[in-house]
Amino acid sequence: MASELNTKMGSTILTTKIGLEIHVQLATKSKMFCRCDNNAEGKAPNTVVCPVCLGLPGALPVTNKKAVLWTIKTGLALNCEIPKIAKFDRKHYFYPDLPKGYQISQYDEPFCVGGYLETDGAKIRLNRIHLEEDAGKLIHSDGKSLVDLNRAGTPLMEIVTEPDITSPKQAGDFLRKLQKIVRDVVKVSEASMEKGHLRCDANISVSDGNGKMSSIVELKNINSFRFVEKALTLVDIKLKEEYAEWPEKNTKETWGYDSKADKVYLQRRKEEAADYRYFPEPDLPPFDSNRLDLEVLSSEIGKDESAKIQELVSINISEANARVIVNDSKKYEIFDKLSNCIDDQYSPVLATAIVNNYFGFDFGKDDFGMSKEYAKAIKAIRDGGLSKPNFSKVVDLIHKQSFTYDKALEELNIEESSEDELEEIVEKVLADNQKEVDLYKAGKVQLLGYFMGQAMKYSEGKANPQVVSDIIRRKLA
Ligand code: ZN
Ligand code: MN
Repeated sequence: MASELNTKMGSTILTTKIGLEIHVQLATKSKMFCRCDNNAEGKAPNTVVCPVCLGLPGALPVTNKKAVLWTIKTGLALNCEIPKIAKFDRKHYFYPDLPKGYQISQYDEPFCVGGYLETDGAKIRLNRIHLEEDAGKLIHSDGKSLVDLNRAGTPLMEIVTEPDITSPKQAGDFLRKLQKIVRDVVKVSEASMEKGHLRCDANISVSDGNGKMSSIVELKNINSFRFVEKALTLVDIKLKEEYAEWPEKNTKETWGYDSKADKVYLQRRKEEAADYRYFPEPDLPPFDSNRLDLEVLSSEIGKDESAKIQELVSINISEANARVIVNDSKKYEIFDKLSNCIDDQYSPVLATAIVNNYFGFDFGKDDFGMSKEYAKAIKAIRDGGLSKPNFSKVVDLIHKQSFTYDKALEELNIEESSEDELEEIVEKVLADNQKEVDLYKAGKVQLLGYFMGQAMKYSEGKANPQVVSDIIRRKLA
């Protein structure tokens, strides 16, 4: 595919460069510069506001210390340097969702500079991380435009990469990894793209290594990782196809992405960079990071992760599985809820089931009422009574129809086989295949697969292969 890595045009190699700007909404209790509730979800428009976030004259901002601390913590997790002094600046522009006429942001002295994040062995350098406030939201309907300022003043962390990303796929990988870090390691944001907690702008350009370069295309506000990859892929291909017509003077263009049509379209050409007339925010003092103990802050990052991993390892879950579960808050939640209903001896198989997606659906917030029923299925799979495919069918019914475990078995006409039954089946298989047994004992161990196949046939596919294989090995030892 043209989008993957570098594309050869005759003897010329075209190289793609992508840089990202990611806005991460911080999950602090209050907003960035006032005490308004930072969670306006489900609240009526313009009800979570005060003179500060409405931008009324004379209102004074007060910095939310937690937001600063969380930004610096994120910087430490991403290997950034924390400058001694940081400050806020006013960034001026006019837009109806910005009542003050400026956004409080950071210009030349952000909280974090440099840093990097590795994805698949590639080191993607960061330029900076700064902190700013969000604007309000415009709602267009019936030919009218309404403004909701509930979101105005929400703390946003802006993470800017260097243009080190070399393919759309790598951009997607980077974003997924970054999401995990802010959500599960430093835990500063819910980082849901659908809810707009994570918003991504991407810059892409292509060069030929001989001083010729395409225009720089900016894609703005794309709201899913998949769409970021798709839009970048389309632009990447387009820029490469247009190689012969690349402009003498590079322009900056903003393109949009229509996810329904899976097409990109030109929004505007930029002649010059916008002049935001930045100047230092006079109402807020500069921030002196000497006041922080960065080592303590560093040591807090991911600390409860290692404790949680140890806890899971102590109940015989493999470290690899423990890591996967602890690093994914959703998986951890499922594990936590279901493991409360079973003995620790069943936890390893629960962990395997979660890590390998035996549950073929997404657990929602309210799906844990059936925990006890899922626990029964987990016990059955471990004790050999259920095969993996049957397990999936059973939990699916528990999930979708709120069936009990027993009712699901009945509905599917599955009989749980007990370990005793499996022993019997294996004994029968071995008795019926005496010649193969002798060969196996003489060293032809590959016959294990044959015995397994026979046993699965005898059990009509109901048996758990792992348990069957254990029994066969034991009997033939
Ligand atoms: Zn407010
Ligand atoms: Mn920004």
